[in-house]
Parts: sequence; structure tokens; C-alpha cells
Amino acid sequence: MDLGIAGKWALVCAASKGLGKGCATALVREGANVVITARGDAVLQATAAELRALAPGVQVIAVAGDITTEAGRAAALAAAPQVDILVNNAGGPPPGDFRDWKREDWIAAVDANMLSPIELMRATVDQMAERGYGRVVNITSSAVKAPIDFLGLSNGARSGLTGFVAGTARQVRLASRNVTINNLLPGAFDTDRLRIGFAGQAKKQGLSVEQVLEARRKTVPAQRLGNPQEFGSVCAFLCSQQAGYLTGQNVLVDGGAYPGMF
Ligand code: NAD
Repeated sequence: MDLGIAGKWALVCAASKGLGKGCATALVREGANVVITARGDAVLQATAAELRALAPGVQVIAVAGDITTEAGRAAALAAAPQVDILVNNAGGPPPGDFRDWKREDWIAAVDANMLSPIELMRATVDQMAERGYGRVVNITSSAVKAPIDFLGLSNGARSGLTGFVAGTARQVRLASRNVTINNLLPGAFDTDRLRIGFAGQAKKQGLSVEQVLEARRKTVPAQRLGNPQEFGSVCAFLCSQQAGYLTGQNVLVDGGAYPGMF
């Protein structure tokens, strides 16, 4: 299926690795030009080179910077001639116990996982509406639907973003102008972040990383972890011409792990 996004400009945040890279890859395969960001320049440049090799006619611009800062967001926005597609992403907050978190920890989580995506939407969605095409995908987490006790910072900050999106996506001045805003909720995906978490758990429990992985796989009806490429494909569909009537939704991609009906 041709998703009808060849030649569109996408800003994909936090995309040198993992889920962000999966999204950028799928968009580039569809012929979209991309601006990708990450904090570390070396890995980002290597990812940009991989993307260019996938689709030689497509433009790939790499902007190193912290997307949770004003300067990082300004640099990312300045690099794109226009933003037709915005994929919001950043590293997730650390796990822990709320008894140990101070105000600064909460501010950092809210900044990264709620306010940064909102600021990027603020900078782009009205111009998308003027042009009559816009797609925003926020990478959040399955923990928004099924909160995890030790991820309180993530549960809290991402729920704030989810509430904001639920209202804003339904603004007539956006929805009637072919601008959609959706959240994409990953379950367990095989990325560096997940493996680092598993390594920590393995150490605590005196197990090997493979044993922790195996136990995790068994909790998913699909009996495996997701891979970032399949996550990217769902993202690309949400960004497509075909998905123009799909807005304000929370789309879970979790191999069936969430047990509820809705
Ligand atoms: P990852 O560590 O594999 O990749 C993260 C990417 O983000 C890297 O490219 C890194 O350079 C970049 N990055 C991190 N902080 C940044 C910042 N402040 N500014 C710019 N770039 C930044 O992680 P991932 O597994 O792809 O996770 C992406 C997001 O999805 C995270 O918020 C994570 O909490 C969330 N998530 C992941 C899973 C999973 O199973 N992997 C599940 C639920 C939620």
C-alpha cells in the first residue's frame, strides 16, 4: 500500500536508536524526508547514513541536541523546511519509588515526556492546518493504560500528555483541516533501553539477562518482544493519507499483553 507521504517532511525526535529509529526508517522507506535528532552525534550520524542508503532520493538531516531543552527543539525545527509529520519521542524517566523522588525529578519527567511534545505541537500544528495536512504521533507507553508501580514518573508525566492530546486532537480547527494527533503505546520492544533494564533486574535477582528476557517473553501472548521495525510500520500508517479519519486515539502495540477490551 502506498501511504501517500513521499516528499512530506517529518521531524522524528530521539531517533538514533530504538523506537524512534524504527519510525524514521519506516517513514524514509515511504519516501518521506526526515529530520532526526538525538543527543549523541556519532550514533546519530551513523543512523542518518543508514537511512540515506535505504532511499537515495530522500533527504535525511541529522540534528544533535537534547529535545527536552528549548535550544534542542529550536535546532530541530530550524532544520526542517516545514513539518508535515511530527513524531515525538525522548528517553523515558528512571524507575524507582515515589518516596525517593523530589520536585526536580518530577519536573524533569514532565519536561521530557509531557511539555517537550506539547511545545513541538505548539510550534507546528497550526501551520499543518493551514497547509491541510498534518500527522502527529507521540510515542508514550503501554503504562499509560496499565500503569507499572515502579514507573511512577513515566505513568504521571505521560498521562498528562495523554489528557492534553485527547482534548487538543478534537479541536475543530485541527481535525477539520486534516491534522491528526495520536499516541502510540509500546509494550515490550527489543531496544537498548529494555535490555539495560533487564540487565539491572538480572543483577538484582541473580539471573542471566537471557533468563529475565525469557520470563518477560512468556508474559506476552505473542511470546516474543516486539521489534522497532514493526513499531515503525504502525507509526508510518498513522502518518499516512489513509489514516486521516483516525485522531485522538491511543494505539497499543504490545503483542496482546494488555488484557482489557478497550
Ligand atoms: P532507546 O534507549 O533504545 O532509544 C532512545 C533514543 O532516544 C536514542 O536515540 C537516544 O539517543 C534518544 N534520546 C534519549 N533522550 C533524548 C533526548 N533528551 N533528546 C534527544 N534524544 C534523546 O529507547 P526506546 O526503547 O526506543 O524508548 C523510546 C521511548 O519509548 C522511551 O521514552 C521509552 O521509555 C518508551 N518506551 C519504550 C518501551 C520499550 O519496550 N522499548 C516500552 C514502553 C515505553
